[in-house]
Amino acid sequence: MGFPLQRPRRLRRNAVLRALVRETELSAGRLILPLFAVPGHGVKREIEPLPGNYHLSVDRLVEEARAAQDLGIHAVLLFGLPEAKDELASEAYAAGGTVQRAVRALKRAAPSLVVITDVCGCEYTTSGHCGFLRDGYLENDASLELLQRIALSHAEAGSDMVAPAAMLDGQIQALRHALDAQGFSHLPIMAYAAKYASELYNPFFRAATNSQLAFGDKRTHQMDCANGDEAMREIALDVEEGADIVMVKPALFYLDIVARAKREFGMPLAVYNVSGEYTMMDAAARLGRLDRDAVMMEALACMRRAGADLIITYFAKRAAELLRSGTAAASAVAPPDMAAGALRSR
Ligand SMILES: [Zn+2]
Repeated sequence: MGFPLQRPRRLRRNAVLRALVRETELSAGRLILPLFAVPGHGVKREIEPLPGNYHLSVDRLVEEARAAQDLGIHAVLLFGLPEAKDELASEAYAAGGTVQRAVRALKRAAPSLVVITDVCGCEYTTSGHCGFLRDGYLENDASLELLQRIALSHAEAGSDMVAPAAMLDGQIQALRHALDAQGFSHLPIMAYAAKYASELYNPFFRAATNSQLAFGDKRTHQMDCANGDEAMREIALDVEEGADIVMVKPALFYLDIVARAKREFGMPLAVYNVSGEYTMMDAAARLGRLDRDAVMMEALACMRRAGADLIITYFAKRAAELLRSGTAAASAVAPPDMAAGALRSR
């Protein structure tokens, strides 16, 4: 008398029991590694606010992708920095552009690796904006033509999936039509469907792609952080227009959106664990306030729990390493076989 029949702690007694009843799991195959291709040869420069991530010339990028694949990562998201920016973003769709060369090299060296290419103008325009401007306003339909040209150049280079990132109205339909018309009806589109205007992109633009805005902001096309219903409308539009995978970006402040999106649409769902999220966790660890690996694994596991099938993350290689080595941080989120293996090996 006085004791409950249900004691939830019974199934938390050790790591194997916990793993046995774990509802969601994290594995390297769920992670997508962003890679940054730069011009040149033999270049491997660490991106200062994103330690463990690099600016890579095509030759070194291939090595990095192979290393990721050896850790069980199946997909990369490719960005590129041009030799020079201009108003037309012309290097973004050049057949010999950095990204296009990187795609060809990756598909030669690692044919089974899924190479996803980011489709946007902002790394290539002098303004740092995602397309063409008129009176300071991002022109929608003229910029769609730019996205089409970029996506086609990626497809021709051998990209496995294109990921339009500009948050323009109609961008999925525009790409679907352009791809279908040129014989790429088999090529999937991962839509940056609910992409919020966020301070959390700051390290990416400042250091990773050197594409800070010359003026203005992106609030006329990216979403307002206060809105949730609107995200569902944005995703619904992208699904109607032919998106194969939908994405919510950023991840951690937006897990309610991730959960709603999974529930309401049941589509393959990706989240982008962005540079500012990485920086917050990394900086706290440097101050000695958090254990970097533990907070990373918890964050990634919670993205999965919220409903993300795929996680684009600068932590991908480190997380995959931990999952492989079966450390304590990994066994807290790993599938039962991995957790059991980790216990036995201790
Ligand atoms: Zn952009």
